Amino acid sequence: MKSGYPNITHTAILITMHACMQGVRTKWVYHMTFLVNSACHIWGNRAWNTEDMSRNNWWVAMVTFEDGWHNNHHAFEYSARYDWER
Ligand SMILES: [Zn+2]
Repeated sequence: MKSGYPNITHTAILITMHACMQGVRTKWVYHMTFLVNSACHIWGNRAWNTEDMSRNNWWVAMVTFEDGWHNNHHAFEYSARYDWER
C-alpha cells in the first residue's frame, strides 16, 4: 500500500514541530519583554526627564522592534509610537 504525502506521520511531525516553535516563540517574547523592562531602566540615554529611571537603549531597540525606546514610552505612555512625541 502506497501512502500519499500528508500521511499521519508527516502530520504528527508537523504538529510536534509547530508546538515546539510556539514554545520557542513564547520564550523569546517573554525574554525580550523582561529585557526591555530591566536593561532599559539601567543603560541608555534619557531624552525626557521622567520620574522613573527609564532610558532609551539602541541595542535593545534593535532586537525588540523599537521597544527599546523605553524613555519615550514612559514620557508618552498613551502613544502607539516609540520614536515620536505624539
Ligand atoms: Zn519601564
